[in-house]
Amino acid sequence: MKAVLFREHGGPDKLSYEEMPMPQIGSQEVLIRVKACALNHLDIWVRQGSPAYAIPLPHVSGSDVAGVVEEVGGQVEHVKAGDRVFVSPGISCWNCEFCLAGRDNMCRTYNLLGARMHGGYAEYVKVPFRNVLPIPENVPFEQAAAFPLVSVTASHMLFALAELQHGETVLVMGAGSGVGMMAVQLAKLAGARVITTVGSDDKIPKAVVLGADAVIDHSKENVAERVKLLTEGRGVDVVVEHIGPAVWDSCLESLSKGGRLITCGATTGGDVALNLRSVFARQLTIKGSYMGTRAELVKAADLIGQKRLIAVIDRTFPLQDARAAQELMLGRKFFGKIVLFC
Ligand SMILES: [Zn+2]
Repeated sequence: MKAVLFREHGGPDKLSYEEMPMPQIGSQEVLIRVKACALNHLDIWVRQGSPAYAIPLPHVSGSDVAGVVEEVGGQVEHVKAGDRVFVSPGISCWNCEFCLAGRDNMCRTYNLLGARMHGGYAEYVKVPFRNVLPIPENVPFEQAAAFPLVSVTASHMLFALAELQHGETVLVMGAGSGVGMMAVQLAKLAGARVITTVGSDDKIPKAVVLGADAVIDHSKENVAERVKLLTEGRGVDVVVEHIGPAVWDSCLESLSKGGRLITCGATTGGDVALNLRSVFARQLTIKGSYMGTRAELVKAADLIGQKRLIAVIDRTFPLQDARAAQELMLGRKFFGKIVLFC
């Protein structure tokens, strides 16, 4: 089969489109003929050699896969050849105390498709059968690949961790990112007032279409000052954040008393300053979030099937152009998801 792989860590030039052996499935695994695979920023961290993802090389990235079941192992239940499916990207053991409590993104051996195991930048990928879910009716493969990782992440941040209530105000950093695009829609669906940020004027109408009540262009305006104006000096109840040092101070300053900041990423670096007096005096909560549960993903899939939640796709590329796709992602001139197809 053909796949896009890298043999050493580094820039996008390390990606090459090559012939690879077909994955051999075990008794509880499923072989999927990949039709679409969405990019995530994780793909870039893994390619660059982030210490959090020590992996044997060569490696095939790609966490968000949709396709058709080609073959199933002898002990596989509820999945058969020919099924149109998408993949839940979090690989859990379904045995440890966290998995048994329904908190499978806390699994002791948690793994991600395309991180420490080969992913979907390929014609075929193998996954455990419990990670295979049916694509809702009338949802095309590109949509089905574009929503899982970002919707489950946004849902976990807003509801499981921030415990967002209707009528509250949320600040979503970066409406044009995958998580941002989902968080704006999910917060609005839940009855919150949504303020979001973008890095250029052309993204403002796109954020409004997603349901944002106010959009701040962070390249021209001070985010915390605008938030204070929009909330009559009060600040927001919840901040959804994944950018890191470049926006950290504005995120904290934007919170109201008792506000909750949830972070799921650090695209501009990992180190930030924190004034503890401000944290306790203003009774702030800061929580880290990583992925979400399978149950949350099933709920998001229902919303996608009902067209109440949309995975905005900026551009699609044929599989062999994965390098150009990653370069587009690094350039930040996109809104929503970038998807490979084959
Ligand atoms: Zn587990």
